[in-house]
Amino acid sequence: MIYLKSEQEIKLMRDSAQLVSRTHAEVARYVKPGVKTSKLDQIAEDYIRANDARAAFKGYGPDRNPFPATLCVSVNEQVVHGFPGDYELQEGDIVSIDCGVEKNGYFGDSAYTYIVGECDEQTMKLLITTMESLYNGIEKAVHGNRVGDISSAVQTHCESRGFGVVRDLVGHGLGRSLHESPSVPNFGKKGRGERLRSGMTLAIEPMITAGTWKVKTLSDGWTIVTADGSKAAHYEHDVVVREGNAEILSTFEYIEEITKIQLDKLTFNG
Ligand code: MG
Ligand code: MG
Repeated sequence: MIYLKSEQEIKLMRDSAQLVSRTHAEVARYVKPGVKTSKLDQIAEDYIRANDARAAFKGYGPDRNPFPATLCVSVNEQVVHGFPGDYELQEGDIVSIDCGVEKNGYFGDSAYTYIVGECDEQTMKLLITTMESLYNGIEKAVHGNRVGDISSAVQTHCESRGFGVVRDLVGHGLGRSLHESPSVPNFGKKGRGERLRSGMTLAIEPMITAGTWKVKTLSDGWTIVTADGSKAAHYEHDVVVREGNAEILSTFEYIEEITKIQLDKLTFNG
């Protein structure tokens, strides 16, 4: 069942997506060598609470092993769902941070891969390509297209650069639930899949690796890592399907004010 949202619901979703975006900016200030990932989590939790919202990931999942933290913090070869903890960020790391909130009954969900200090050129290509693929996918999130148009746009861009497109995890609808129909894979064929209609709200989130698309789950039951140990990137926006152009509810602008890097404005040779 796919729920189309009214403009009033979309307004509430925009508020939630904006809160997630601002939470990212709070965290971005602390993404530096020597900072423990648990510190990032505490900052996010405090900020979300102070804004009368709830951290959507904490306690999510099966009763016997719910996700333990506010943020998913995934370093280097970790793709998604990493636990914040005692690890101290190091110069040259990349760290993917995924944040979800529920406010006024509606969810926001956005992810961003940060560079700790400076990273090598190949890693920078991975980040730029993943970011570009997100916007390529969003361009296809318009009324009358199909989910496969989004999927294909992401996949073809990343694979043309030799990167791996993770299959085991996918984007999704969101709204009153964190995960709604339809699934939005980052791989697929144009013209296939669910028809997109105005008022559908989607989290589009390419998860791309510098090597194989294959992943495995660590013994904590959550942390997903690349099977070959290559680095992975993850960018996620919440969007509304509309006629002509999708509307993006989340933003990376607040992050970019802190990091002074706009990945989608960068290019590279080769
Ligand atoms: Mg997310
Ligand atoms: Mg998501």
